[in-house]
Formats: sequence, structure tokens, C-alpha cells
Amino acid sequence: MDAEIISVGTEIVLGQIINTNAAYLANRLTQLDLPATYQTTVDDQSQRLERVINHALTRAQLVFVCGGLGPTADDITMPTVAKTLGKELQTDEEHWKWIQKTFEQRQIKMEPENIRQAQYPRGGEPLANPVGLALGCWYETKGKVVVVLPGPPAEFKAMVEKSLVPKLQQYFQTRKQITSRTLNFLGRPESQLMDEIEGATNDIPGISITSYVQPTAIQVRLTVRDLPVIEAEEKIDQAQKAILAVEEPFFFGVGDDLTLAKVVVEQLKKRGWKLTAAESLTGGMFQSAICSVPGASTVFNGGFVTYAASAKEKLLGIPHATIDRYGVVSSETAATMAEGCQRKLNVEVGIGFTGVAGPDMLEGQPAGTVWIGLAMKGRSTKTVQLHLASYVGRQAIRTLSVQYGLQLIYH
Ligand code: ATP
Ligand code: MG
Repeated sequence: MDAEIISVGTEIVLGQIINTNAAYLANRLTQLDLPATYQTTVDDQSQRLERVINHALTRAQLVFVCGGLGPTADDITMPTVAKTLGKELQTDEEHWKWIQKTFEQRQIKMEPENIRQAQYPRGGEPLANPVGLALGCWYETKGKVVVVLPGPPAEFKAMVEKSLVPKLQQYFQTRKQITSRTLNFLGRPESQLMDEIEGATNDIPGISITSYVQPTAIQVRLTVRDLPVIEAEEKIDQAQKAILAVEEPFFFGVGDDLTLAKVVVEQLKKRGWKLTAAESLTGGMFQSAICSVPGASTVFNGGFVTYAASAKEKLLGIPHATIDRYGVVSSETAATMAEGCQRKLNVEVGIGFTGVAGPDMLEGQPAGTVWIGLAMKGRSTKTVQLHLASYVGRQAIRTLSVQYGLQLIYH
């Protein structure tokens, strides 16, 4: 069985964007035991796309055409696929009504071209788009399947996960069973984590372990093939146990969409606790991460962005003498920030972030030097110092600080 991924987009061939969609789909197909054997990229040009699709159909049974489903003139994918297959476009009337309603609700004038986002080649089957307007398409022809997917990565991933993967699993039903589970880690370099995991699991045969680095976690996927679900789950349980015997301190939960912020919010909810934050170098990013979790209001009322020393003093009541004596980038300042915000909002957990986001040094300390303070009910205040690599840059230093802060609360 051969599969081919065709990426459509002038921006991709010109090197203006990175083709993350093809990588995502290729990885997902591998996990489903349908590895792609070809990847092709072509610009937004109908004749060339037609040639590429025809060529793909000579060598692959499964052809994915990705990108170019928008309503503008440069979005030529769906009509071109229809033409290549020798089919007319047909409109999904219900979806078209939904698009019209969406424009009404957003109070935006709709263009007639928007109907294209509700169209697909006659005889095909529309694929739902859970986070965008354009439908995708699944089209079976002479033992082959052509799949059309949208370009924006959020829509692409959502359609792959919610519409395409179930469809592929159904279509290839006769194939063997695949069972998998994703474990989330933070705070260990990927190579070291994977070496240790390999060491911990090398006496468990028949399980494949792959890692996927996300900005906010390292995801490790355990996959067992060709075993009934119950046996496969047992094997995965056994591997998880062996892995956590070594990596427990860096583990924060199971699931593809899990984030540390979600885990922390859940944990606080269970205890009936609230948290607040005083943020210097992270400038509100920690509080934003908390607010990104649905239901955050049960654990979060508000907090502080205290960038300059004067704001730390005024808003948090930190004594001028503390900052004067120890400096802004210090354990003492982080601790008093945590205690200050906790006291001001009268909540169980207060966290403080102070440090050097860079690129310049501050108080003689290099970019990447970060202090996090944690004041938690029933415990004495603790602080940790991070020495993040300055070369990762200002934004990564701020994002990582937030993740380490979440980890500190979680453990
Ligand atoms: P739109 O309605 O936004 O036009 P579309 O389905 O027509 O959606 P494209 O026009 O191909 O999609 O791409 C829209 C945007 O999505 C691109 O500008 C780019 O930012 C992103 N994108 C498209 N293809 C890829 C890809 N293969 N990898 C990463 N990003 C992509
Ligand atoms: Mg487009």
C-alpha cells in the first residue's frame, strides 16, 4: 500500500512557510500503519496540481491533497481535484446554510465565492471541519482514495483527528489493531528522556515508543500493534509503570491534548484552592496559560503583572529594602512576590516570576536566569532557580519559565 501526501501552496515551494502539515500527517499515518511513501509539493497552479495528482494516482493508493480550500482566487484545490477526477462540484446545502449563518453572526458581509467552501466533487463524501469554514473531501475511485484537507494548521489537525483518522480506520478495518497511549513529560532533555525510557522498557517486547517535542511538553507515544485491545492495554500499562519508576518527577499525565495548565487547574479544583501570580519577566503569560483552560474561573480570580521594581513595591507591598539588598533577580524577591500576591488576594497559592528574559544581562546575570517563588498554604515558601540556555531567546525563556512554574505547583 502506497500513500502520497501532496502539499499545495506557493508559499511552501518558495520557502516562506514550513510544511508542518505534511510532517503532521506523515507522522499520524505512520502511527496508523499506513506510512506514506511519497511527498510532493506544488504551487497554487491548477495545471501543475492536476499533473501532480494524476502522477500520484499512478503510484499511490491513498492520495492526500492538502491546502488551498479558501474562497479566494489562489485557492484552486477543490475545483482542480474535481476536474482531475472528471467530476462536477456539488454543494453541501446544509453546510452552505451554516456558512451563511456564521457570517451573519459575525456581522461580516459574505462574498458569493464563499459557496466554494461548501463544495466537493460529486460522488465524494464531505469531511467535517470542526474549527473552520471549508469542508474537506473523501473520494473513492477504482480502489484508490483521494482525500482533500485544508491548509491552516489548526484546521488541518482538527480535520485529520476528528474526520480523517476515523474514516481511515473504518476503511482499513481489515487491518490489524493498533492501540496507543500518549504520556506527557517536562523538565528533561528529549534525548536523555528517550534513552532512559528505552533502558526501562527494553525487556518489554512488541511495543514501539516514539517522542514528539511540543513547545510545552515532550509527548511520548506508546504503541502496540496486532494485539487485542485488552492485551495491548496491559502491555502499555506495564511499560508505563516501568517508565514512571524512573521518570515520575517529570511526568504530568496521559493524553494527546493534555497541557500542564489543565493538570494544575484540575488539581487546584479538587482541593478547592485558588491561585494567583505576580509576574515580571513573563508579563502575564502564566495567568494567560491558566485562563486558557476552560473553567479557570473556579481557581483564578486575578493577579499581577509587576515589571518594574516600583510596581513590585506598590502593587505587592514588597519592601524597597528587599529589592535594594538582594536585587530583582533573586530568591528573596521571587519569594516575596509569591507571598505578596498570595496575601493581597487572600488565596491558597501565590507564584512569583522574576528573571532575565534577555537578550541583555541584568544585574550581572545572563539571560535565562530565572527565579520562581511559590507560596502555598500549609508549606513554607520555596524558590527555584532556572538556568535556561540564553540562546533559545527571549520568548522561549518566558514560555519555559511559565511551564516550570506550572510544574512547581503540580509537584
Ligand atoms: P484559507 O481559507 O486560509 O485560504 P486554505 O485551506 O486555502 O485556507 P492555504 O491557503 O493553503 O489554506 O493556507 C492558508 C495558510 O495556512 C497559509 O498561509 C499558511 O500560513 C498555512 N499553511 C498552509 N499550508 C501549510 C502547511 N503545509 N504547513 C504549514 N502551514 C500551512
Ligand atoms: Mg488559501
